[in-house]
Amino acid sequence: MEIVHIASEFAPFAKVGGLGDAVAGLTGALVEKGHSVEVFLPKYDIIDTSILENLRKVDTLLLFEQDEQITTTLWQASFRGVSLTLVDPDPYFKEGKIYGNSDDTKAFLFFCKVVAKALSQREKSPDIFHAHDWMTGAALLFLEKPHEPKTLFTIHNLKYQGKCAPSYLEHLRLAYDEEVLSDPVNSEDLNLLKGGITFSDQTTAVSPSYAEEILSPDGGFGLEQFLTQNKTKITGVLNGIDTTYWDPNTDPSLISTYSAEAPLPGKLANKRYIQKTLGLTPSDTSPLVVSITRLVPQKGPDLIEYGIEKCAEIGGQFVLLGSCSDPETEKQFTELKRRFERDPHIAIHLGYDEKLSHLLFAASDMFFMPSLFEPCGLTQMIAMRYGSIPLAHATGGLKDTIFDPETSKEPNGFLFRVPDNKGVSSVLERAFSLFAEKESWNQLMLRGMEADLSWNASASKYLKLYKSK
Ligand code: ADP
Repeated sequence: MEIVHIASEFAPFAKVGGLGDAVAGLTGALVEKGHSVEVFLPKYDIIDTSILENLRKVDTLLLFEQDEQITTTLWQASFRGVSLTLVDPDPYFKEGKIYGNSDDTKAFLFFCKVVAKALSQREKSPDIFHAHDWMTGAALLFLEKPHEPKTLFTIHNLKYQGKCAPSYLEHLRLAYDEEVLSDPVNSEDLNLLKGGITFSDQTTAVSPSYAEEILSPDGGFGLEQFLTQNKTKITGVLNGIDTTYWDPNTDPSLISTYSAEAPLPGKLANKRYIQKTLGLTPSDTSPLVVSITRLVPQKGPDLIEYGIEKCAEIGGQFVLLGSCSDPETEKQFTELKRRFERDPHIAIHLGYDEKLSHLLFAASDMFFMPSLFEPCGLTQMIAMRYGSIPLAHATGGLKDTIFDPETSKEPNGFLFRVPDNKGVSSVLERAFSLFAEKESWNQLMLRGMEADLSWNASASKYLKLYKSK
């Protein structure tokens, strides 16, 4: 099959969070299954193009935005068998970051328009055109006849919907039906994510539980009624992880690599290294808990703060690697960092650090994830692969991938039902108590390490959707 994806992220070179991992993982797995896969991506100035193969300019397009003609250069390259088309419009994607630029909506809408135009100029339509989240949902509106491949749209996170004034589409000279695109919460706005769902043949959400949760007022962020009306076209497909990239047996960032056959010496070497480099008291027996996350409300920052305090109180060690994107959270965690500066059991590292994240997955005994909602979540799966037991709130994809000893005969982690301090206390206490029983703990760890968390099964599910009528 000829499969074209359009996305705003692609790991590892254009990644903010799990969306980048998911797009790279799914497209890589489709290539492995013998399909021809192309991904359209913005050519952000932050992309380190030295890791791309065979990068070259292939085309120039001239398109209008308002009355201004904008020149866009198209580049092609490949990365691990996936063909990449990098879209480089003169004025956009040159502010040193992926999101949070002067006008993300304008930039991504223009990107969508370019991609639709580029496809329309080809002799043949691909079999599949697959868009991800609000940033690329509009591409489905721009697709031109006769190039009408089967279309899919994936909801990675419904909280972000790309709401904008109608003038944004008018500037791109796109005729649209206002009623179809209007936002249910504020009818003055258009909603690009709603557009992606409406104009796709099939929509997926990134886990079966999330596909259910988004139909409720708590999970639907204002789109619950619209989604319920469209629920027959929405399927939950769990993400996988890239098991080549996330492999403790070959990971070049680790101090000592290890596999499920004999994980303990390798894990201990990484734990000792982290304790030493982050200034924690050396201890093989204190449970080391880590969180690696974007510090946004979704991820439960207050519960992370409480978890750190509780962990210190009950004799554990905690390392937080968190990236802040708003000044308020930055202030909260800078203050927390200051409070624990001299505590030899707590380390708080603010920022995004890929290499440190690998070391922390390997060094940790437990991975703490108190997300208030979590569409799929990748870090709990990466943690399992690295022998770190996830402790998480039972929501969305966390509930679909983590099985608790209290409810499962084959547990691989711990869940708490209510996302409050009581839930956090009880999950940490239960986990610390099992940690002391080495044999049971190791069983839990091996179950996670040996599970098939790869994209293989999920890619097969996507292929089934691609092929269905
Ligand atoms: P989300 O997409 O909501 O951020 P996921 O769990 O799906 O959450 O994926 C997060 C990805 O981003 C993982 O690969 C994780 O390791 C990485 N990540 C998140 N925060 C950081 C950070 N501060 N430093 C390094 N990697 C991070």
